[in-house]
Formats: sequence, structure tokens, C-alpha cells
Amino acid sequence: MKGALVSRSVLITGGSRGIGLAAARAFQAAGDRVAVTYRTAEPPSGVLAIRCDVTDTAQVDAAFKEAEDAHGPVEVLVCCAGIAKDGLLMRMSEDDFTSVLDTNLTGTFRAVKRASKAMLRARSGRVVLVSSAVGLRGEAGQANYAASKAGLVGFARSMARELGSRNITFNVVAPGLTSTQMADVLTDEQRESLVAQIPLGRLALPEEIASAITFLASPQAGYVTGAVIPVDGGAGMGH
Ligand code: NDP
Repeated sequence: MKGALVSRSVLITGGSRGIGLAAARAFQAAGDRVAVTYRTAEPPSGVLAIRCDVTDTAQVDAAFKEAEDAHGPVEVLVCCAGIAKDGLLMRMSEDDFTSVLDTNLTGTFRAVKRASKAMLRARSGRVVLVSSAVGLRGEAGQANYAASKAGLVGFARSMARELGSRNITFNVVAPGLTSTQMADVLTDEQRESLVAQIPLGRLALPEEIASAITFLASPQAGYVTGAVIPVDGGAGMGH
């Protein structure tokens, strides 16, 4: 087992802001060599930022190549890139559905497939997928998003079984409502009603989600795989 102070090559998709960037800062603080991908946002400073749209396999491949050239084979992959296009079923277009699946679920498949090559060679690797509490309990108006996030659980657990013998762990973090740009679309009324359903009575901070991510990638979590860790202030209890 590697010691806590060993610097690892970490790649985080969707690390330009929010939860992904908070995770990047936490890995950096622990001494890891971190690359993040960004798509439309300004690239963050102080971290290797690589432009990459996870809906494009060639861009995913090129992003890994750039991270590998700078930091060596990726040892820890965090799949955080995600979008939401909410709407009730009757008003949800097929594109609203498939584009969310393509980014959140197939985008994760593309990154994991690319990362697994080096991890298989190394017979070691850590993969953390960022799902959502909504993926476990569902939400009216979020059929596309919830389906994509639930899909990540089946995907991670299948990978945990497929690649466990190669010492590659796959785990899922299921955040509740978190203070990031993604939550900014809520009206004050929607926010208040959602907060009323959270036992801890507030939104999560991105850093609180990052703590679960870094734990799952740490040596202390070496025997944890196929797990879904809710970080939702208790909102999803029982799901
Ligand atoms: P943000 O909207 O702040 O960040 C989303 C990130 O995903 C950005 O870095 C964005 O890049 C990137 N991204 C989106 N689409 C693509 C794409 N096609 N290719 C590459 N990158 C892409 O949201 P959060 O930080 O809140 O979300 C991070 C993850 O956490 C998401 O998967 C989200 O579903 C999940 N989550 C968030 C919750 C919340 O309440 N905030 C709750 C539960 C889960 P760019 O900006 O450069 O386009």
C-alpha cells in the first residue's frame, strides 16, 4: 500500500469549478500532481487545466495524453463533469435526454475506458464517480439527470467486479444539493423548499463533497470498492 505522502497523478474531469475544483485543491494540498479538464469555463489557475469535452472520445484521449505527459500515467481518476437539463417528461425533448446521458454517463464511460489502460498495466488504480442523491431517489423534472446518475452506480459496480482483481477500486459519491453554479439556477422558493427536506438544514459546500472523494482515493480506503457514499446532509436517508 502506498503511503499518504506519495504524490500521485490525478485527473479530474469537470474540474474547472464547483465540486471538481474543490477536489483538485484537496488533492493538491495532499501533494498529488493534479490535472483538471475544463470545457467552456475559464481554466482555473494553479493547476494543470486541459480543455476537454467528455462527449468527444478524441478529446478525452488527448486530455489523458496531456496529463500523462506532464504527470505520468493517471493513478486516480475522478469523473465530475456533469450537466442538468431539467424538465417534465412531456416537455423533455429527446435531445434533452440523450445529451445529459451522453455527458454524465457515456462521458464517464469514455474517461474510465481510457484510464483503465494504464491502471491495468500498473495493476493499481482509484476511480471515483460523482453521482447524485437524485440518482438514488429520483426527482420530478429530472428524469434524464436521475437516469444518468443512477446509471453511474451500475457502471461503477460492474467495473468494481470486472477490475477488482487488478487492484482498481471504483466508488461513487452521491452529493445532495451543493453550493455551486449548478445550484444557482434554483429560485429562492425552490431552494427553501429543498433545504426544508435536509436534516442538516443547509446546502453542502463543495469542499465537503471533495472530502469524500479524496477519502475514497486514499490508502485508507484501499478495501472500499463498489460503494455509494451519500454526502447529502441526510436528505437521501433510506435510499
Ligand atoms: P458545475 O456546473 O459548477 O460544474 C460542472 C463541471 O462539469 C464544470 O467543470 C463543467 O465544465 C463540466 N462539464 C459539463 N459538461 C461537460 C462536458 N461535456 N465535457 C467536459 N466537462 C463538462 O457543477 P458542480 O460542481 O455542482 O457539479 C459537479 C458534479 O457534481 C456534476 O456531475 C453534478 O451532476 C454533480 N452534482 C452536483 C450537485 C449540486 O447540487 N451542485 C448535487 C449532486 C451532484 P465547464 O464549466 O468548463 O463547461
